[in-house]
Amino acid sequence: MRALELNGVSVYYGAVRGVEDVDLYVDEGEIVALLGANGAGKSTLLKAISGIIHPRHGSIAFFGDNFGKLSAHRRVIQGLVHVPEGRRIFTTLTIGENLELGAYGTQRNRTERARRLNEVLGLFPLLQQHFQRLAGTLSGGEQQVLAIGRAMMSNPRVLMIDEPSLGLDPQKVDIVYDMLEEVAKLGTTVLLVEQNVSLALEIASRAYVLQQGSVVLSGPSASLVDDSRLSDAYLGKSADDHD
Ligand code: ATP
Repeated sequence: MRALELNGVSVYYGAVRGVEDVDLYVDEGEIVALLGANGAGKSTLLKAISGIIHPRHGSIAFFGDNFGKLSAHRRVIQGLVHVPEGRRIFTTLTIGENLELGAYGTQRNRTERARRLNEVLGLFPLLQQHFQRLAGTLSGGEQQVLAIGRAMMSNPRVLMIDEPSLGLDPQKVDIVYDMLEEVAKLGTTVLLVEQNVSLALEIASRAYVLQQGSVVLSGPSASLVDDSRLSDAYLGKSADDHD
């Protein structure tokens, strides 16, 4: 089943092109990576899927239903969560409080929220261990773990995450990536934006490469690893530069 399907999606900021005519799909249970240099349009695409901004053209379907102009909040209720770049956790609240906030809006009552909290703490012991700590005292890697844990509180069908490895040392990156694999094993589909190409291709089954707002390359990760067009996209070369 298609968890996400984008057809001809174009997003503009006034006259500035964010993305143009993007076709993309993610099947249920897959981890798919969205790659590309700074400004290629990766965050724009995630924002369009989560409903923070609306495309000028094209359609976005979630498990077969067209999102149309559905609000970001309703998309969360339908099972789509977005962990934005920079994590946006509440530094003056404890880990426990941050997690509880992740369930508001989707878990209707206190009992459901408490049950979900126990499930998430069971999955990610690091969060249990530091439950009472203020989130602002956590390291960058721990904050990323918290941001993913908070997203999982709404029991999402699809998790979108923007640059989870940004600013983390390699050991912490491993912890975060193990966590994403765990999330996928539990049946949550993952759409991952990542600057670290080799890392993303290790975990993703397929990837899309954006350049200046357009998809210039896509396919199974194994076939992209050695594809020179992938590095070209980062270096700003276009397909026309090849003969
Ligand atoms: P990065 O890795 O730097 O976040 P990205 O691939 O996520 O890059 P986007 O942030 O989606 O790229 O940007 C795509 C294009 O849209 C760029 O040309 C950018 O300058 C432009 N853009 C992004 N956000 C805005 C905005 N709020 N207003 C105007 N233009 C924007």
